[in-house]
Amino acid sequence: MGLIRPRLPPAPPAAPPDSPARDPGLPPGATMERAAAAASACTLCAPHLPLGPRPIHQLHRDTRILITSQAPGTKAHLSGIPFEDASGERLRDWLGLDKDRFYDPTQVAILPMGMCYPGRLPGGGDCPPRPECAPLWHPRVLPLFSGLRLRLLVGAHAIRFVLGSRLPLGERVARFAESLPGHFPLPHPSWRTLVWAKKHPWFDAEVIPALRREVARALED
Ligand code: SF4
Repeated sequence: MGLIRPRLPPAPPAAPPDSPARDPGLPPGATMERAAAAASACTLCAPHLPLGPRPIHQLHRDTRILITSQAPGTKAHLSGIPFEDASGERLRDWLGLDKDRFYDPTQVAILPMGMCYPGRLPGGGDCPPRPECAPLWHPRVLPLFSGLRLRLLVGAHAIRFVLGSRLPLGERVARFAESLPGHFPLPHPSWRTLVWAKKHPWFDAEVIPALRREVARALED
């Protein structure tokens, strides 16, 4: 029989867009469980969120790998589950992880740059993550991990916020080794990246094998 791994329940339902904007705060000495509950109750950006606040994350104090991605899309907003779409399949393939391991919060945590779906841009595509989110929640949550080994920075927003890098995304990814150990910069695993990767064969030939090695190492006992 296969190993049964813990999986967090989906995020609570969305709050209405006209909810009062409120940061629930976090008292000093709070546990990760408490921080996750507080993050789920955040409505700070309510006036800017067309579908209402529904913070989506996957957090556990014992996790080994933290994924800092952009912001949930509409599918994740509706289901409450991050990366349960084609981008998630692609990301799991890059990492060499099946769904069981990916959704095991003791192995993989997910704390995006913006935890709520930010809406659509007038010209198409999703809005950038809300700028309030990462500066508020990342400093509260990050110290509560007990033994984080690897942080994956998925997309330009996460790379800029964490590494402070202004290099073009492709160049930053090509120079991934400069961020090891500890951080691994990646493009967003959208269909656009498939097109981009065809023009930059070093991504599949060099970056993905190195990424799988780092992930396997971070999950070793
Ligand atoms: S995006 Fe972040 S800061 Fe804004 S309401 Fe959602 S959880 Fe709160």
